[in-house]
Amino acid sequence: MNIILLGPPGAGKGTQARRLVDERNMIQLSTGDMLREAHTSGTEMGKVVAEIMGAGKLVTDEIVIGLIDEKLRGENGGGFIFDGFPRTLAQADSLAELLEKHGQTLDAVVEMRVDDEALVARITGRFTCGNCGEVYHKVTKPSKVEGTCDVCGQQQMKFRTDDNEESLRTRLMEYYKKTSPLIGYYYAKALLKPVNGLGEIEEVAAEISTVLG
Ligand code: ADP
Ligand code: ADP
Ligand code: ZN
Repeated sequence: MNIILLGPPGAGKGTQARRLVDERNMIQLSTGDMLREAHTSGTEMGKVVAEIMGAGKLVTDEIVIGLIDEKLRGENGGGFIFDGFPRTLAQADSLAELLEKHGQTLDAVVEMRVDDEALVARITGRFTCGNCGEVYHKVTKPSKVEGTCDVCGQQQMKFRTDDNEESLRTRLMEYYKKTSPLIGYYYAKALLKPVNGLGEIEEVAAEISTVLG
């Protein structure tokens, strides 16, 4: 089963994707993570995109489509989770073509609904483990021992430079202008599965399990 997690920045896409990886052996394809890795590893592309990401704008369709094409050649395990991709109608069309090329289908688009006020609180409290990628929150999901990852035990907690209110405002505008049209696009394809993203992490996970079957 191949699925998309669709929702604004901070909706909980990464958090739920990691659960699906554990529970269903799926493979998480996060274009945000791939772009941040490209920056950390010092590639030319990484340098170009870092500034765009910092400002909260979308990087070009060509770059992210290329990244996804690459990953679709690899193992697909229990299926792919597209996390933060597609973000434009052009990316959605390309994804359909790429899946066809790789002999895959798209089975569901989970739309995570969260209001703007909650998004600000989520984004401004987010931090992640730099070693294993576990996602935490200062209030809703702190680590058991401050500074130490519950999952891998390392002390490499990181905050994202784009997780500030100014960048978030731009990211939200980008979402409503360029990404939210995908809701209608996938509704028309009878793939859209809306879930209430405002509940606790466990509640959202249960709702996603129900809609995926
Ligand atoms: P996205 O990948 O959609 O940007 P994340 O999964 O990174 O979102 O979650 C954003 C922040 O909100 C993180 O700090 C995470 O711990 C927290 N979070 C995720 N889901 C929930 C939830 N259901 N309730 C409260 N906090 C949540
Ligand atoms: P979040 O969902 O928490 O906002 P992501 O990690 O998915 O964050 O994305 C971080 C940034 O990476 C985005 O603000 C954007 O600049 C860039 N990015 C990620 N995925 C895409 C995409 N599919 N198309 C264009 N830009 C992207
Ligand atoms: Zn960790």
